[in-house]
Amino acid sequence: MTTPETRWIELRERIERACREAGRAPDSVQLLAVSKTRSPDAIRALHALGQRCFGENYVQEFASKHDTLAMPPLEPPIEWHFIGALQSNKTRAIAERAHWVHSLDRLKLAERLSAQRPATMPPLQVCLQVDLSREPGKAGVLETGVQTLADAVAGLPGLRLRGLMTLPAPTEDPVEQRRPFAHLRELRDTLNRHGHALDTLSMGMSDDLEAAILEGATLIRVGTALFGPRTHGGNSA
Ligand SMILES: *Cc1c(COP(=O)(O)O)cnc(C)c1O
Repeated sequence: MTTPETRWIELRERIERACREAGRAPDSVQLLAVSKTRSPDAIRALHALGQRCFGENYVQEFASKHDTLAMPPLEPPIEWHFIGALQSNKTRAIAERAHWVHSLDRLKLAERLSAQRPATMPPLQVCLQVDLSREPGKAGVLETGVQTLADAVAGLPGLRLRGLMTLPAPTEDPVEQRRPFAHLRELRDTLNRHGHALDTLSMGMSDDLEAAILEGATLIRVGTALFGPRTHGGNSA
């Protein structure tokens, strides 16, 4: 029978195998459990197995689950990552609750998040979402705008720039899968040669995490492989 525990163990094995193949330490890849559309109880069950980082896509749903699971808080506490599409009229709920945002792609949103970050909390850790496929309507800053955005974000007091994130068009070809991930890594290296100190590459999901780990992912975002198939609410970022 497939249970949260068997999925968890299988996923840990996949990660370890990929790390071995890449010649990397298994703890060099952080697992973000993408819990969009899942219940607080499903999150509690994974937390009980040892999962600490959870990622959410929709602001209302994130705020509601965050607040539910904060009373009483789980021990050790959850680290919350917001990975969904950002809208400027909904940044406050994120600034007041999240530890990380992976989907930052515009200066205006960065300025709002920084200004709305409560002074009592540490700076919000952010990744810039990069659109490498240039498909119409896709979220993410284009490669040509990354350096300018990174320079501006690095100067905002409420934010701490940690890295880059990408969400490539799905493909089943393992060689094709690696291309955008290698591209993101090179972009990170370029930014670091130009004065940044980015330590995070947020890339890889249930179907392409091996390719991402081979190309240097430091954080993979996994939903279905951990929780089972989603019945609604697919990729929205
Ligand atoms: C839903 C989602 C994921 C997880 O996708 P799975 O294929 O379920 O692992 C990762 N990243 C983002 C931005 C998502 O929206």
